[in-house]
Amino acid sequence: SIIELVSTFIVLLSMFYIFYKYNNIDYYLLRKAISNNDICPFIQPIVDKDKQVIGGEVLARWIKRNGKMVSPLDFIPKLEKYNLIPSLTMQLLSQVLKSELVRKSEKLTLSFNLTENCLHNAQVQNLCIELATHCQLLLEFTESSEFENVTKTLAAMQLLRNHGVQFALDDYGTGYSSLYYLNLYDFDSLKIDKSFVDTIESSELTLHIIESIVLLASKLNIKLIAEGVENIEQKETLQRLGVNKYQGFLFYKPESLDSFSTRI
Ligand code: C2E
Ligand code: CA
Ligand code: CA
Ligand code: CA
Repeated sequence: SIIELVSTFIVLLSMFYIFYKYNNIDYYLLRKAISNNDICPFIQPIVDKDKQVIGGEVLARWIKRNGKMVSPLDFIPKLEKYNLIPSLTMQLLSQVLKSELVRKSEKLTLSFNLTENCLHNAQVQNLCIELATHCQLLLEFTESSEFENVTKTLAAMQLLRNHGVQFALDDYGTGYSSLYYLNLYDFDSLKIDKSFVDTIESSELTLHIIESIVLLASKLNIKLIAEGVENIEQKETLQRLGVNKYQGFLFYKPESLDSFSTRI
């Protein structure tokens, strides 16, 4: 009868509401997206001063069924909330390991974005060790989240360093006590944040900051990569200041592993 139908509908609706209220739908969809490989690795080439591709940064992209792409800025915070970042990182590492690209990447540096708790994950560590047999692996840490377990992190870094893995401090200059972390974790590379590159033409202060980063990096024997390079003036200024590796839309946007493969 109509009453049965309506009451069934109401029961279903309230179940849906409760489910949704406790955010289980988000959790379920995200987990499914990861396990179905709907979130997949794109890669943005990194070039030297002669525009030669020397490697690339792997960036997560969620490709919806309708072909639309969701930005990691939207889903990474949710994955963090549900503690799904390690699963995502494992999927990205294994997808790159299974790709054609990995067979031609001995001379390339491939970067991944890792959070601290990923580094403590044994499966993530094993995938990194395996990938490091195919390419130069660079793990990027952002200083916007504070490192929490120093002892554990140092031990994991040492383990991976024994297999040739290198580490970069990401978004350098924007986060927590940069110099402190630089010293503590002995990073191999620094990524100069886009916000500095953006203002390199307009701000004298930025120029001085980059000059001092270059000086520091040369004293500490740390490699530099500038991110978010969008025009030739920025590239030329960076090069004049002594920064020789660049990533940005001036050169390439993030692209599929297949298109990246055709460049190398
Ligand atoms: P990020 O690590 O700083 O990555 C660089 C971001 O700058 C990327 O955005 C890239 O597409 C963008 N970008 C590069 N060159 C240019 C440029 O010339 N102009 C402009 N306007 N943007 C440029 P994307 O891919 O949206 O990633 C955003 C952030 O999400 C990343 O920032 C990173 O923190 C995070 N993320 C992405 N993939 C992963 C991942 O697999 N794991 C983790 N933990 N975080 C990730
Ligand atoms: Ca990064
Ligand atoms: Ca960055
Ligand atoms: Ca950045």
